[in-house]
Amino acid sequence: MEGIEKLFPLLESPKKIIITMHQKPDADAMGSSLGLYHYFCNMGHTVQVISPTNWANFLNWMPGLTEVMDYERVTAEADKAIDESDLLFCLDFNTLSRTKRMEPKLMSYKGTRILIDHHQQPQLEVFQYGISDTSKSSTSEMVYDFMMDAGHEDKINLQAAECIYAGVMTDTGSFRFPSTSANVHRLIAHLMDKGLSHSQVHESLFDNFSENRFRFLGNVLLHRMEVMYEFNAAIIAIPQSDLVKYDIKTGDTEGLVNFPLSIEGIKLACIIIDRGEERKCSFRSKGSFDVNVFARKYFDGGGHMNAAGGQSKEPLEEVVNKFKRALKENRELLTSYNF
Ligand code: 5GP
Ligand code: MN
Repeated sequence: MEGIEKLFPLLESPKKIIITMHQKPDADAMGSSLGLYHYFCNMGHTVQVISPTNWANFLNWMPGLTEVMDYERVTAEADKAIDESDLLFCLDFNTLSRTKRMEPKLMSYKGTRILIDHHQQPQLEVFQYGISDTSKSSTSEMVYDFMMDAGHEDKINLQAAECIYAGVMTDTGSFRFPSTSANVHRLIAHLMDKGLSHSQVHESLFDNFSENRFRFLGNVLLHRMEVMYEFNAAIIAIPQSDLVKYDIKTGDTEGLVNFPLSIEGIKLACIIIDRGEERKCSFRSKGSFDVNVFARKYFDGGGHMNAAGGQSKEPLEEVVNKFKRALKENRELLTSYNF
């Protein structure tokens, strides 16, 4: 994979560009993609954003979102756009398998594949150009750096600013995680100079949930969370029947995994959700316990040091038991905690 700056001359003439992201995109995946979309549109390129799957309703306010294709809904149309494009930007994921049903299409792509991502162990061999930097707070921050490094400060409009802000803010846990560098604060100041209304973005993202989602949260904390102080860990296991009962939609479960980490002493949190076709796991840690390694070893997953995910085809109770066995194997690491 060659450095992304080698692309700058190529982008001086109009190109047909596809931007895609990981399945079930979060605010960073969608925000970085739409931020880049507005920027490329301002440069005169023809741009199509494609999400591998649907997304959470709380992203629907993002400028440009109505133009995004859902690959699962409009596969033929999306395939045609991909076939006709020159450049394919892959944002906020490290391996093509994170695009689920889009993977074969991306694998056989005849144009130029470009990576912008901050996850560990990227599949570098499938990208001609790119940046992979695990020290970055978010892919949105990397997209901002890309535009600035290209010397195009003037092409970052308010719409792009709102999308980028949403990605940086959510991936840094509202600027609290260690990845929140001075560069992050400087870029936010810059976006505010451009007229960004940060309160409006926060409200759009966090104050638009259904009543059901809060009843569901109450039930999760009361009945579905188990705290295991002997391992400084907690687990939340959600059966499919809860998802049906509370009419839970894509995105409604996002962030739940963080709740146990606010309990004194808890350094590792896990949530396992029975989605029917698979059991989806999320892991979060504080300090030195590496959930990327943990997720890779036990749950066919990966991610970052303090935030990772995985999955299993086994029944929910079995996945819970597997997690508990893994806790025992990792007792020493979990109880000798270092920041
Ligand atoms: P989340 O728990 O929010 O779904 O994901 C946390 C982090 O782990 C994200 O950066 C995400 O990209 C990564 N991640 C989540 N699930 C998987 C997975 O199944 N495989 C891999 N390799 N990474 C994942
Ligand atoms: Mn991200």
